[in-house]
Amino acid sequence: MTSATPPEVLSERLEVPFVDLKAQHQALASELEPRLLEIMRDAHFILGPDVAAFETEFAAYCGTTYAVGLDNGTSALELALRAAGVGPGDEVITVANSFIVSASVISFVGATPVLVDCGADDYLIDAAAIERAITPRTKAIIPVHLYGQVADMPAIMAIAKRHGLFVLEDAAQAHGARSGPDRRPAGSFGDAAAFSFYPSKNLGAYGDAGALTTNDRALAERVRMLRDYGQKAKYDHQFLAYNRRLDTVQAAVLRVKLRHLDEWNNLRRHWARRYTAGLAGTGAVTPREVDGEEGHVYHLYVLTHGDRDGLSRALAERGIQSGKHYPIPIHRQKAFSFLGIEAGRFPNAERIAREGLSLPLYPELTTEQVDYVIAAVRDYLRG
Ligand SMILES: *Cc1c(COP(=O)(O)O)cnc(C)c1O
Repeated sequence: MTSATPPEVLSERLEVPFVDLKAQHQALASELEPRLLEIMRDAHFILGPDVAAFETEFAAYCGTTYAVGLDNGTSALELALRAAGVGPGDEVITVANSFIVSASVISFVGATPVLVDCGADDYLIDAAAIERAITPRTKAIIPVHLYGQVADMPAIMAIAKRHGLFVLEDAAQAHGARSGPDRRPAGSFGDAAAFSFYPSKNLGAYGDAGALTTNDRALAERVRMLRDYGQKAKYDHQFLAYNRRLDTVQAAVLRVKLRHLDEWNNLRRHWARRYTAGLAGTGAVTPREVDGEEGHVYHLYVLTHGDRDGLSRALAERGIQSGKHYPIPIHRQKAFSFLGIEAGRFPNAERIAREGLSLPLYPELTTEQVDYVIAAVRDYLRG
């Protein structure tokens, strides 16, 4: 879909925010606002009918039998591990370049995070490194579909099968991403998957929200109880548990937005392709697309460059916001200093942390904005 030659000349100053949630609301206001008003008038705020309806629709979208609505993506990861019986004495393998909670949840359930590096060119968890990290204590693997691409699930599921491990996809950045010859959706590969609907995710709520998907009925039931004080029926508590429910209001928002997700993901891909074509020859590198045309849902468009910080400042001076995902890899976070992992251990993750810059990428961008960003990047890297 990419057309036109990359602009070489900067137009007059434009503001390009990193995300633009107001623009998205504007486009949905007439659909959403009457629905929210209805919910306020109905006052069925907790586990109202929209929660079950969203669960059914989201499970269908992900190609799974069950979805369980939760208060956020962190809870989805944590409750999946709890429901799978992962706990003290167990090890869980995940990747060093992700948002911290991909690993924090392992500690929350009392298990030990075992980190591995990502691939040098796709930035996704390295399946061979997973296999090397397995010990007799290993219980589970958490592959992360980072930036919107599905990790190498055939290889990871084969490893898990050989070693009898539970696989939990961290799909917080990959709603609608597809992989493999049968184009299966993210969230349908592992024993369970965790989604976040943080407002700026590809599918975002109007506040915090999350979901777990699975084909395992017993696991889904256990997570339903884990989100609701361990209740089997009202005031019949089978075990101690927190309150981690998805709100009715958020479910209603998500139901409306889910109908637009494929169209939004197409637009994200369209802008990503325009960036890639426009930035060719600048020396800035983007992760390899592992699953062809339709695989990547571009939650983030990340380029790596040795002068990342200079580029970020130059863009800011021209009104362009950018991001860093993530500037400190998990094993170098103070919060994980107890793991005792020294710098240099995961060179790919560390290079991305040092050199990765995320450009503005969301459906509501305009051609003018994208071309302005391209021109600004080219201008700085040339100079
Ligand atoms: C956003 C995100 C989460 C956490 O989701 P919350 O809804 O913010 O709790 C987990 N993992 C990854 C990779 C994420 O990007």
